[in-house]
Amino acid sequence: MASGDSPATPPGGRHGAGTYQMLWDCRFCGTQKLLGITHRHCPNCGAAQDPAWRYFPAEEDMVAVEDHQYVGADKICPACQQPNSAASTFCSECGANLATGETVQTQGERAIGTGSAGADTRRDVVKDQFVAEMDRVGAAEASRPVFLGLRKNQLWIAAGIVALVLIVAGIVYAVSYRSSATGEVVRLTWERTVSIEDFQPRAGSGWRDSLPGDAYSLSCTERQRGTRKVPDGSHEECRDVDLGDGAFRRECRTVTDYRDEPVYDTWCSYRVDRWDYARQVASQGEGKSPPPAWPSYQLAQGIGRYGEERAAGQAESYTVHFRESDGDTHTCTFREQADWDRYDVGTSVTLKLTITGKPDCDTLAPAS
Ligand SMILES: [Zn+2]
Ligand SMILES: [Zn+2]
Repeated sequence: MASGDSPATPPGGRHGAGTYQMLWDCRFCGTQKLLGITHRHCPNCGAAQDPAWRYFPAEEDMVAVEDHQYVGADKICPACQQPNSAASTFCSECGANLATGETVQTQGERAIGTGSAGADTRRDVVKDQFVAEMDRVGAAEASRPVFLGLRKNQLWIAAGIVALVLIVAGIVYAVSYRSSATGEVVRLTWERTVSIEDFQPRAGSGWRDSLPGDAYSLSCTERQRGTRKVPDGSHEECRDVDLGDGAFRRECRTVTDYRDEPVYDTWCSYRVDRWDYARQVASQGEGKSPPPAWPSYQLAQGIGRYGEERAAGQAESYTVHFRESDGDTHTCTFREQADWDRYDVGTSVTLKLTITGKPDCDTLAPAS
């Protein structure tokens, strides 16, 4: 064939932008790598070229088309099905009028990227047709109703929905399940705590543009804060587009490359005077005598600027310990003292237990 006038693969392994011949293989006599533009018929057996047989060549088989006049993808003769140049008015095979002829299906395009075309895109047409037929048969099989008018894949979705509903219903049942129980109060305990803050120099650090306004004793160093993209050369990316007339166009574009460059900024350690948590004082007790009371404490006055203390929040909790009739001991803790005052040691109680046997403290109440 025409390998004699094919230019060798250029330096760098890739042809540049331009127009090149698609290749095709004659299915009748087996001649390979015929040229899409030059060989409208097989030079060996005379069979006409079928556009469906065309493929993109490997880099070393690419043949440029000089002064390519693109008039559009080939048209199929409505009378004899032979492809003709879109510029023709009448079929070169049978002479029929091509006005109502359809445009041939192209081979689409292929991306080359920054590499070169290592192989051609020749396909096994017989195998492709076989696979397409098998897909069609398989799709028909899958769409046949098998149960209650549902298709096979719809049946799986329905089963999944049923399983999901059952799981959700099971979770709702387990979370909301309650059994009744009775018991007797065996202990009552309480705790009250007060948090105390003090005013001190605190250590901190941050970027210089976001330091507190009253920061002092700064100690700063340069440090990488992030990166920025800077242009760093370029490379060429190509793709091949089938024109549908036996040729394809290689389109290339220049893409800018970028690299990351570090960005530096000033990072500072500093001190700043602030109120912050210092300690906690607590009082605990059992029973109602003496009654629950807040802890007594002394706040430091500080020396000079620092060390002064202040109360900053308090918390209280009240716990009822009870023995269930089957012997298990549980506790319920309340935030409000009034909820706890309803009980005394020896008080009979009723309550609900969850599915794991834990008390639901919202349901705890003295037995009437
Ligand atoms: Zn042939
Ligand atoms: Zn024709």
